[in-house]
Amino acid sequence: MSGRAQELADRLAAVRGRIGAAERACGRPPGGVRLVVVTKFFPASDVRLLAGLGVEDVGESRDQEAAAKAAECAGLGLRWHFVGQVQTNKARSVARYADAVHSLDRLRLVGPLGRAATGAGRQVGCFVQVCLDAAAPGASGRGGAAPDDVPALADAVAGTAGLRLLGVMAVAPLGEEPDRAFARLRALAERVRGDHPGAVEVSAGMSGDLEQAVAHGATLVRVGGAILGPRPAAR
Ligand SMILES: *Cc1c(COP(=O)(O)O)cnc(C)c1O
Repeated sequence: MSGRAQELADRLAAVRGRIGAAERACGRPPGGVRLVVVTKFFPASDVRLLAGLGVEDVGESRDQEAAAKAAECAGLGLRWHFVGQVQTNKARSVARYADAVHSLDRLRLVGPLGRAATGAGRQVGCFVQVCLDAAAPGASGRGGAAPDDVPALADAVAGTAGLRLLGVMAVAPLGEEPDRAFARLRALAERVRGDHPGAVEVSAGMSGDLEQAVAHGATLVRVGGAILGPRPAAR
């Protein structure tokens, strides 16, 4: 095994261990939380190594980079998760490779993404991204719909051909205990599930807060740095 492969294998095992411990700590059955490895800023060669280590789900946040990597890594059986903000004019591109979009945060995106998916002959899973900033929704600049807008967005996704509503997603806001933020997410997730019983997924938790997210019902964690190491400086 190359040095990089060994490093990724060790960090991957550590993160899987953390997820397992978090599941046990709150009495959840083992294996219920899916790991999406966020590979943004890292090369396709790392994605290949991760696939060789049994990773099935990878996440990306920039369309150009994601499209190139997905093409380069075709045939590895990976599921591609788009976790960054989606510009409306990128909907067509994203729909060609993404199996799931975690960042559906506005009504204006639903139609274009659905048409793009249908046009590509694909079905794209969608998470409605919720902004959990307690004070001012949108203040973080990280996207996400205001909590009050989430049910209508979920209805729109569920009613659009080419899209499948999977559940809700959030990033814990800075400056607040992730526990409190994820508790609000859980309440919203339950509300959405009440309207759409199939929308059972909760995408929450990153390198620094996956334990809290699992404790609050995350079914999918998105982990970058803890597996790939520090991100190269943004270009
Ligand atoms: C980059 C990113 C992650 C991974 O974050 P880490 O702190 O590196 O684990 C998760 N979710 C989203 C939306 C991201 O942009």
